[in-house]
Amino acid sequence: MKFYITTPIYYVNDIPHIGHSYTTIAADIMARWKRLNNFDVFFLTGTDEHGAKISEAAKVKGKSPKNLCDEMSAKFRETWELLNISNDDFIRTAERRHFIAVENIVQTLFDKGLIFKKKYKGMYCVGCERFYAKKDLDEKGRCPFHKTKPILQSEENYFFKLSSFQDGLLERITDINHKEHIDVRPEERRNEIIGKLKLGLEDVSFSRSAIEWGIPLPFDKSQTAYVWVDALINYITAIGYPNDETKFKKYWPADIHLMAKDILWFHSVIWPAVLMGAELPLPKTVYSHGFFTLNGDKMSKSIGNVISPQELVGAYGVDAARYLAVTLMPFGPDGDISWQGLTLKYNTDLANNLGNLISRTLKMAEKNFNLKIPQVVPDLELAKNVAGILKEGFARNMDGLQLHKAAEVLQSAITLVNRQIEADAPWKLAKTDINKLAARVYSYLQALAVIAMHLLAFMPTLTEKIWQIIGAAGNISDIAKKYFADGVIPENGFSISNADLQIPGILFPRIS
Ligand SMILES: [Zn+2]
Repeated sequence: MKFYITTPIYYVNDIPHIGHSYTTIAADIMARWKRLNNFDVFFLTGTDEHGAKISEAAKVKGKSPKNLCDEMSAKFRETWELLNISNDDFIRTAERRHFIAVENIVQTLFDKGLIFKKKYKGMYCVGCERFYAKKDLDEKGRCPFHKTKPILQSEENYFFKLSSFQDGLLERITDINHKEHIDVRPEERRNEIIGKLKLGLEDVSFSRSAIEWGIPLPFDKSQTAYVWVDALINYITAIGYPNDETKFKKYWPADIHLMAKDILWFHSVIWPAVLMGAELPLPKTVYSHGFFTLNGDKMSKSIGNVISPQELVGAYGVDAARYLAVTLMPFGPDGDISWQGLTLKYNTDLANNLGNLISRTLKMAEKNFNLKIPQVVPDLELAKNVAGILKEGFARNMDGLQLHKAAEVLQSAITLVNRQIEADAPWKLAKTDINKLAARVYSYLQALAVIAMHLLAFMPTLTEKIWQIIGAAGNISDIAKKYFADGVIPENGFSISNADLQIPGILFPRIS
């Protein structure tokens, strides 16, 4: 089975901030989780590089647009490397392969009579790269996002007949039994989209004249494709459209497009309409997440309260930063974060619960068995209880992108093992029954191995380390793939008797 997941391609007018990182980490965790579940995963991210905004920014900096894009795009790639993002491709819209895909789609739509020329006059915001109707501007006649006055522009452009897709889109979004159903999530935003769709659709401007930094229309080279057309098509370029039919057929349609809510309309209405026009299958799920504020304030460069991914990694380390980013608030609604909240979650989940479980178990193994648990009759009851808890809620929440809930289930499994240790009172067993103690410590290691396999998608590097520390055999990814396929704990467990355990050191130092 295949699984194709995408992040938006990020516009190169900005450096990567926590918003980009949030979407990308969530996509990465999903991609890793699906790989562990034996899916053939294609995970795509990249950069959106065309448009007037970029050529103007380049001019200001005395660079060519191409140079500016190279520089900015590299910053995104470096950040994804830092965050251990496992994308299978990184697409840039200024690449040749993307020109070919855009030209192909645009020509197809033109041949089908879905693109027509029209003289247009309107209020244009350069910041947004779009025209605004009067009713969409604020009370002072300014762009609602940039708080600047749009400029009156008159152009002869090509338009896309979006209006003719209203009924088709409504059917596909509302009817879950439609064979081309698009699952727009979360539900509140799906309802907003449906409400807006019912009001009717206007044809949309499809090209710009006099914007050189873009992809020329194949049938009229004096115009370039509008940056939104150009950007959306990246999702099919990267999987081989139009020249690698085998690859394209293998991965398309996308299983999930992820994005922030401000671009949900483009992904749930305009993009499907373009695909319908070109007679291509539609994405299965379009899932948007909310915006977040920091201590109740909107993050902005001018206020200077933007959290960078580098800061997050600096404070908690890569693995914990990934875990915290996706567990602090639900994926979907808006949320508020704070450094205090992040640190509290770090201390509660990672330092106190998981970190404590690992360190106390290994300390027992060191003190009583010199880091080699003797051969014991494997007691798998605790590991099976842990597996039971996880089976209940973990996979369902992961598959539904409720990563914070999946992490809660994981934490409750960790708590269960910590409580079992207290109930067993191993410090007493050390004095009375050393064989029984060996069997108990062994059972904690088994439970830890089950926990580790579920933690792997969130914290890939640290979890591999935990796997070694607890003396578990083999490569954790391979073992986890087998475990998730058949759901069975091997007869002798995952850790081996007489394996060399390791002193973990402090994996999650408490932060005060
Ligand atoms: Zn604007």
